[in-house]
Amino acid sequence: MELPFAESYKIKMVETIRKSTRDEREKWIKEAWFNLFNLRSDQVFVDLLTDSGTGAMSDRQWSELMLGDESYAGASSYYKLKKAIRDITGFEYFLPTHQGRAAENVLFSALVKEGDIVPGNAHFDTTKGHIEFRKATAVDCTIDEAFDTTLDHPFKGNIDLEKLEAVLKSHPAEKIPMVIITVTCNTSGGQPLSMQNIREVSAMARKYGIRVIFDAARFAENAYFIKTREIAYADKSIREIVREMFSYGDGMTMSSKKDAIVNMGGFIGLRDEELFRQASIFNIMFEGYITYGGMSGRDMNALAQGLYEGTEFEYLETRIKQVALLGNLLHEAGVPVQIPFGGHAIFVDALRFLPHLPREQYVAQTLAVEFYIEGGVRGVEIGTLLADRDPVTRLDRFPKLELVRFALPRRVYTDNHIRYVAATVIRVYERRNTITKGFRIACEAPILRHFTVALEKL
Ligand SMILES: *Cc1c(COP(=O)(O)O)cnc(C)c1O
Repeated sequence: MELPFAESYKIKMVETIRKSTRDEREKWIKEAWFNLFNLRSDQVFVDLLTDSGTGAMSDRQWSELMLGDESYAGASSYYKLKKAIRDITGFEYFLPTHQGRAAENVLFSALVKEGDIVPGNAHFDTTKGHIEFRKATAVDCTIDEAFDTTLDHPFKGNIDLEKLEAVLKSHPAEKIPMVIITVTCNTSGGQPLSMQNIREVSAMARKYGIRVIFDAARFAENAYFIKTREIAYADKSIREIVREMFSYGDGMTMSSKKDAIVNMGGFIGLRDEELFRQASIFNIMFEGYITYGGMSGRDMNALAQGLYEGTEFEYLETRIKQVALLGNLLHEAGVPVQIPFGGHAIFVDALRFLPHLPREQYVAQTLAVEFYIEGGVRGVEIGTLLADRDPVTRLDRFPKLELVRFALPRRVYTDNHIRYVAATVIRVYERRNTITKGFRIACEAPILRHFTVALEKL
């Protein structure tokens, strides 16, 4: 008999979480204007809102905190992090920032101007926000297969080379500051790009004289998928794959709250010294001096350690198998989920779950609220609320997919929690025909509205 799979770590510290009653949850979600971001965390039993900054640091990361050097300039923590980033990514120059969107803000301040075009694969919401805030346009060049949640394709994060070339051909190079490769592609479901696709995209961008920047939040999970799905890479280590991946780019922005398993932090990695100099000006203005930029020394230490742990195969296997456990339990019960399962999250296809509900009533949000009421499980809408209004027409943009995402914090929940979540979703699925009304917007912000929107039940 083959021995079963088991986690590659054991638990040294625990945190109590509490269940609530259905009546309590109905009251709380109403008080929260049916916006899951407005709930207090103690009103949630299993919190799968995001995998961002919610991971559990290891004993080694906690001990690194004690070794932090809090000197303003030239701290040893800065050099420790610089070495880790060079080891793992190969980028010679780096700037610390307080999180991923800050890295975008700094780098895009140096690169993106009004009227620019930024092609990529389903840009993440903050990335798109930072592009549109500068009156530039993000063009999604993801392959069409990504938008069919029933299609089993190993690399749904891939960029369509024909779509990309059409963009590169129809605009002068000085209007295209970069191509953004998001690994893994969060917006289209935590889906990876193949090494082959990354290589081809990079070659095409070079042909047109355009730089390639990675939005690298989940670069290690992408490398795991390359290792397990792309035959030529089966025998390579995660770190070898990561190095090759980044060799096809000119730089990266990183949300360290994802694959570097820290609760706060980010950075920019760059190959070109001149671009590093330009970005440094904005880093000093927005984040802090270039050897700490928005991070304390101890946090840079924990991040350096996290980069090594996050690129270990055993850790990645444990994590991605837990995500697949949730996916399999739902899929086997007939719940429509995106296939194949992503690296950090399972995505429930709300349009197939509630086909009778009009899209104007925010279908995925309606479903996310039902999951909370049913079991105190918090997911998040990746649909029309997130897609925001068209900046010109101010009409709702209806994205191709309307999803509820369950993102798994790293090293936090046990497989029993995962089974509890699956049972909650399956119970809602069994009563789906009774869900006949969604929401309308009572109040919203002009940009990134999903964080603060207030909703009314129809
Ligand atoms: C989380 C994330 C960001 C933004 O990072 P923050 O640390 O949340 O500011 C950017 N891109 C991708 C793909 C992400 O997942």
